[in-house]
Amino acid sequence: MLKRVIVATALLSLASPGLHAQGRGGQPSGPQKTTAIRAGRLIDPETGTAATNQIIVTEGQRIRDVGPNVPIPPGAEVIDLSRMTVLPGFVDTHTHEAMTYKEVPENNVYYYTYVADSTALRAIQAASNTLQSLSAGFTVICDVGNNGLYADTALRAAIEQGWIPGPTIIPSGLIIGTTGGQFNPTPEMYKSHNIVYPEYLEANSRDEIVKAVRENLLFGAKVIKICLDCKPWGYSVDDIKLFISEAARGGAKVNAHVQTRDGAQRAIDAGLHVISHGQQMTPEQHAQMAQKSIYLASTDTPFTPYRGSAQGQKRAADQLRSAWEKGVPITFSTDMDYWNEKMKKANGEWLDRGELTINFLLTWKAAGIPPKDILKALTITGYKAADVLKDQRGPIKAGFYADIIAVQGDPLQDIDAVRNVQFVMKNGEVFKKNGVITIDKLLHPGPVNGFGRR
Ligand SMILES: [Zn+2]
Repeated sequence: MLKRVIVATALLSLASPGLHAQGRGGQPSGPQKTTAIRAGRLIDPETGTAATNQIIVTEGQRIRDVGPNVPIPPGAEVIDLSRMTVLPGFVDTHTHEAMTYKEVPENNVYYYTYVADSTALRAIQAASNTLQSLSAGFTVICDVGNNGLYADTALRAAIEQGWIPGPTIIPSGLIIGTTGGQFNPTPEMYKSHNIVYPEYLEANSRDEIVKAVRENLLFGAKVIKICLDCKPWGYSVDDIKLFISEAARGGAKVNAHVQTRDGAQRAIDAGLHVISHGQQMTPEQHAQMAQKSIYLASTDTPFTPYRGSAQGQKRAADQLRSAWEKGVPITFSTDMDYWNEKMKKANGEWLDRGELTINFLLTWKAAGIPPKDILKALTITGYKAADVLKDQRGPIKAGFYADIIAVQGDPLQDIDAVRNVQFVMKNGEVFKKNGVITIDKLLHPGPVNGFGRR
């Protein structure tokens, strides 16, 4: 009996990390480090305006004060960005950090990536990808499925616990779809569900929808990703509403892969939070999205030497332009989940994942979207779509987490300035300064923020 009690107590403390982590807490102990940043130009992407000669004081993980005459507290470390433009971090609202399909060996067929690369390998790739993305200024990343068996929620937990620095990851866990998910599995694959299936969770009835949502939330999902119309049977308006209400019980929103016009209409009618892709939508549907404040993550692949076509970029730019003209809350999104030998700069160096991600700007420029609206998509609209404002994350405001970046030049004049991120602070810690990444102090041998964090 006593043994059973001890086991039960041990299990209980595992299930309630708060009990166990007390003392070590959710924040590093000791006095809170104070930093004062001198910002030559500080952009407010909400209004598309800039203020000069501002001071941002951070304390611990958060911003304490911002303004032109904020006193620098004694003992504060002063960071001089007076020759730079400071702005809040960027958001990619649709990507797959634990997915990298390749020409060799899988000929860019990502079915084979699922067979060839284990979840463990892909989780380590994801850690590397997020460091590269953070270096490019991405402090929030919506990681929406195709990440093996929950590599994405593990990635979030590793970053939250303090094993490695990284962006705030909003993981979806497995993509929920009707029979077959996004794929056309063979009967052999389908019957045993042992290969490829870790990528999809099937839900065909109302009971199965509730169960699938709860399963993802249980394993750490912060957003629910569904494949809305990947098959002709797809999800109905009532199904989508059930996803939305069940996800809300776990504090999550719903982001859907939408590939048809009919599917888009069902998504709009149900009042979805984020429509991903949506490349078949009409201007009328864009107007409806705007009216209902539905976010668009249209994953606008640019035409580059390593990917895409001129035609494809034009189609994507036309769609983006239509959405922008109708006032849709548009976000910066990529689907950047591949690699090939052509991803090199003129000097022969590899383009990293962050550089490849920000290169989606090409489509935005082709669409003729003004810099201030691109900046808004990259930041404030992204925070809303990622639903991080409720956690006081995003804008550079007192009380919010200190996720702050700086670039040379003025992106309100020349948007390409955002390609050259020189400084990155995440949760009040400097990750990159003068263009150089210094992460020695940010790598830890254990979960320094508490093992229970997810
Ligand atoms: Zn995707």
